[in-house]
Amino acid sequence: MIDNWGRKIEYLRVSITDRCNLRCIYCMPKDGIELIKHDEILTFEELIRIIKSASELGISKIRITGGEPLARKGITQFIRKIKSIKGIEEVSITTNGILLEENIDDLIKAGLDRINVSIDSLNEDIYSKITRSKGLDKVLRGINVALDKGIKKVKINTVIAKEINYSEIMDFAELTEKMPVDVRFIELMPIGEGKKYTQVSNDDIKKIILKKRKLIPFLNSKGSGPATYFRTLSSKGAIGFISPISHEFCNKCNRIRITPEGFLKLCLHWNDGVDLKKVLRSKASDEQLYKIIYNAIKQKPYKHEFKSQNKNSDSRNMSQIGG
Ligand code: SAM
Ligand code: SF4
Repeated sequence: MIDNWGRKIEYLRVSITDRCNLRCIYCMPKDGIELIKHDEILTFEELIRIIKSASELGISKIRITGGEPLARKGITQFIRKIKSIKGIEEVSITTNGILLEENIDDLIKAGLDRINVSIDSLNEDIYSKITRSKGLDKVLRGINVALDKGIKKVKINTVIAKEINYSEIMDFAELTEKMPVDVRFIELMPIGEGKKYTQVSNDDIKKIILKKRKLIPFLNSKGSGPATYFRTLSSKGAIGFISPISHEFCNKCNRIRITPEGFLKLCLHWNDGVDLKKVLRSKASDEQLYKIIYNAIKQKPYKHEFKSQNKNSDSRNMSQIGG
């Protein structure tokens, strides 16, 4: 559907859990967060009702995220059910990749279309420092297995922070010459723990890559998201830049989000939205649910204002929202 600012809203990010098997320093505090009680997290059946309503409103792409989505039992059956909903064209997942290798066969059988894997370092020591855990080798194996088994697109999401992994920018760019994966640099957002680290703008990242490689822009924009893509002369995959801070793309925003506790969130930055859990658990009809989602989308804020936090800003960590 079209929102009040003329934007086509067609993409829903569904966060199915706030639990995670890693503790990335810019996303979660060391001792974790206060977790949502199990019975406050939407069931898969409740999520399917929301996705059905959303599909009738024109949502055609679903991305499952978290916390760590592969840490929630039943995810493959959930994907299979989403794939059977009329109007849903694509189901993808954003994962830290730790549990990818052991789940890949079931995910493919369920019909998963695309996988984004978050990796912020290709060096085991730095990876351990960032995630406060181990497992880079496992993650890389998971990516290779996914590619071998025919997942049509694997993208790597990388967040660069000045004090953590600034020295690895070129390593990530070069990864696209070694493997058929896209690497996308996502600017660190001042959300929760993310506020403690120094964001590096994608213009600066691009300058660093340009010292060593020619970057050739893709003429037709790749994908439906906010990334701009380039390739080098020997690329197997593309280098993408997602720049929510330095080059705001709110005028093209096509997405809404569901948090694990069922809050329909209209913009990553703001608190605005609707408590759909309350709606679902008060035995609302499908028609009522549809109207509530429709009215909410009409209220989608025009833009984020990360640079000027105020009382309506969301103060939670990304693991509680889903990225
Ligand atoms: N656990 C999964 C993963 O790491 O891919 C999915 C959830 S995670 C919250 C989704 C994405 O949000 C990851 O790519 C992560 O790097 C990103 N993220 C977390 N905190 C962020 C921040 N402050 N700014 C930018 N991206 C952030
Ligand atoms: Fe977990 Fe993903 Fe956050 Fe890392 S970025 S702590 S893997 S939710």
